[in-house]
Amino acid sequence: MPALPNPPQKRNVFLYLIIAALIVAATTMMFNTGEQTTQEITLNTFVEKTQSGEIHKVEVSDNRIDIELVDGSKLYTFKESGSSIYEILEKSGVDEDIIATIPITIIDTESGKFWTDLLIGIVPFLLIIAFFVFMMRSAQSSNNQAMSFGKSRAKVYDKGKQKTTFDDVAGAEEAKEELSEIVDFLKKPQKYTAIGAKIPKGVMLIGAPGTGKTLLARAIAGEADVPFFSISGSEFVEMFVGVGASRVRDLFSKAKKNAPCIIFVDEIDAVGRHRGAGMGGGHDEREQTLNQILTEMDGFETGTNVIVIAATNRPDILDPALLRPGRFDRRIVVDMPDSKAREGILKVHTRKKPLAKTVDLGKIARSTPGFTGADIENLANEAAILTAKNNKKTIGMKALEKSIEKVVMGPERKSKVLNKKEKAITAYHEVGHAVTGHVLPGCDPVHKVSIISRGMSLGVTWFLPEEDKHLSSKSKFEDEICSLLGGYTSEQMFFGEMTTGASNDLQRATNLARNMVTKYGMSDLGPIIFGDENNEIFLGKDFGHVKNYSEQSAAKIDTLVKGILDKAHEKTERIVRKHKKLIDHIATDLIKKETLTGEEFKKYFSNTKVPKKSQT
Ligand code: ADP
Ligand code: MG
Ligand code: ZN
Repeated sequence: MPALPNPPQKRNVFLYLIIAALIVAATTMMFNTGEQTTQEITLNTFVEKTQSGEIHKVEVSDNRIDIELVDGSKLYTFKESGSSIYEILEKSGVDEDIIATIPITIIDTESGKFWTDLLIGIVPFLLIIAFFVFMMRSAQSSNNQAMSFGKSRAKVYDKGKQKTTFDDVAGAEEAKEELSEIVDFLKKPQKYTAIGAKIPKGVMLIGAPGTGKTLLARAIAGEADVPFFSISGSEFVEMFVGVGASRVRDLFSKAKKNAPCIIFVDEIDAVGRHRGAGMGGGHDEREQTLNQILTEMDGFETGTNVIVIAATNRPDILDPALLRPGRFDRRIVVDMPDSKAREGILKVHTRKKPLAKTVDLGKIARSTPGFTGADIENLANEAAILTAKNNKKTIGMKALEKSIEKVVMGPERKSKVLNKKEKAITAYHEVGHAVTGHVLPGCDPVHKVSIISRGMSLGVTWFLPEEDKHLSSKSKFEDEICSLLGGYTSEQMFFGEMTTGASNDLQRATNLARNMVTKYGMSDLGPIIFGDENNEIFLGKDFGHVKNYSEQSAAKIDTLVKGILDKAHEKTERIVRKHKKLIDHIATDLIKKETLTGEEFKKYFSNTKVPKKSQT
C-alpha cells in the first residue's frame, strides 16, 4: 500500500549527478597537467641556447618542447609536427657533441590520447544506459501504482505528528458534545453495552464549506486514542471502473482488523448522490461505490466497534439510503459561527501570533458576520502577513481591519487606473447605492464606500449588519433590491445613460426578486414553491431548468418578478432624485478621497434635513 519507489529514484538522480561531476573533474585534470609558470621562447632562441650550452634538459611531448636551463629557469617552445627535434638541431648547425650531452626525453602522448578517446567514446553510452535504467524504473513504479488501484488510499492518522484536539475547535459546542459521546464510547464501550445501548454506526457532519467539519474529524482522531482511517469521497472514484467498490471493501476490512477504530469519509457527496440521477456517464461507478458502502455498513456485526464518520456540505443531494436509521442516522449540523464563536476562532488562530494590547477580538468578530472558520483563519493570516510586511512586531487593530476588507472584497488593485470619466461614473454609481441603502430602513448600515478597484469590481459599497441575522423579511428584500438598483439609477440620472458596470447589480436584484416569488412565497402567487432545486443540481443549472409548473405559472412569475423590480426602480428613482444634491456632493468628495468610511459617510446626513433612519 505505501508508495515506496519515490525516494530511491531521487537518490539515483543524485548518483548520476555525482558521477557526471567526477567525470568532468577527471578530464579537466588530465588536460591541465603540467601547467606551470613558464615562459615561451622562439625556436631560434632555443637553438641558440643549445649552442651556447645553457640547456640542462629537454622534454618533448608532441609538438611542445619543455626546456630547463642550467640556472633552473623553465621555458617552452613549439616545433612543427612531424619534424624530429634532432633534425631541427642538426639542421640549424648545432654541434653533434652538444646534442649528445643534453638529456632529451620524448614523452609518449599517444597513450594519454587513448584515455581521452576512450572517455569520449564511452560517456555517451553510459548516459544512454543510465537514461534507460531511469525510464524503466519509473515505468515500474507506475506499474506498481496500477496494481494497487483496488487498495484503499485511506491515510492512517498519525498522532505523534500533530495532535488536534477539541480545544482547537472553537464554537460548534453541540457538535463537540455529540462527538465526545462517540469518543467516550470508543474508549469505554462496556459502559454503554452493559446498559443495552447501541452507539450509531454512522455519523454525518453537515455544514457549509469551511465551517470546520474536517477539523472536527481530526480533533476526534486526536482525542479518541484509536486508529483513524481518513479518506476523501473523491478518492473512491478513479479512471478504472470497479475501483471504488473494491477500495471500500479494502478499507472496511482493514478497519475491522483494527477495531475499535474510526473511518472518516470526507466529502461523501462525491459518491453518495442520489442513485439513478444525473447526466452523462460516470455515475454507474459512483452507484457501485455507494452500494458497497451501504453493504459494508450493514455488514458490521453488532459489537464491531467501527464508527463511520462522514462529512458533506450538500446533505440535500445525498441518497436517502445513506441517511436511513442504522447507517448515517446521526446527523450533526456544524453551523456558521455566530459572533461569539467567531471570537473563539479568532483566539485559536491568533494563539501563536503576537497581538498588540489595543486589539479587541470581540469587535473584529462582530464586524465579520457571514465569515466561516476558514475565512477567519485566512483573516488572521492576512493580518500577520500585513504586519510583517510593514516591519511591525505586533499585530494591531488596523491590520486586522484591513484584512477583513481583503478577505471580503479581494485585494486592492491600485494599478488598475480608471480614466476621469470612468472614475466619475463609478463614484456616482457607488454613492447611489450607499445613499439609497442609508435612507431605507431594511438595509444594513454603510460601512465603507470606495472607488478603488478590487477583484473584478471597479468600486464597492459595503453594508455591514450590526449583528448576526438569521431571518430576512419581505420588506428587507424590497429595500435591498432598491439599494442594488441605486447605482444603476444614479448613473441614469446623472449621466443620462447606463453602463455595463451595473450588470452584476441587476443580476443580483433579479435573482432576489425571482427568489421572493418562487422560493419564499412573498408574492400574490401565495405560499407555493416553483422549481425543484435538487433536480437542477443533477442536470446542471444551465442544462435544463426543470419546470414542475405550468407555462401559465411561468408567465405569471415573470410578470411578478418584473413588477417587483419596476416598483423598486420607481422607489429608487424617487430617492435618488430627492437626494440629487447630496449625491453630487458626496460623489465629488469621493472622487477626491477615493474612500469614505461609514462615519464619514454618515456625517453628510447629520447637517441636512434628510429623514434619518433608525439604525437597529
Ligand atoms: P470544512 O468544513 O470545509 O471541512 P475545514 O474543517 O477544512 O472546513 O476548515 C478549514 C479551516 O478553517 C480549518 O483548518 C481551521 O483552521 C479553520 N476553522 C474552521 N472552523 C473552525 C473552528 N470552529 N475553530 C477553529 N478553526 C476553524
Ligand atoms: Mg472539509
Ligand atoms: Zn453597483
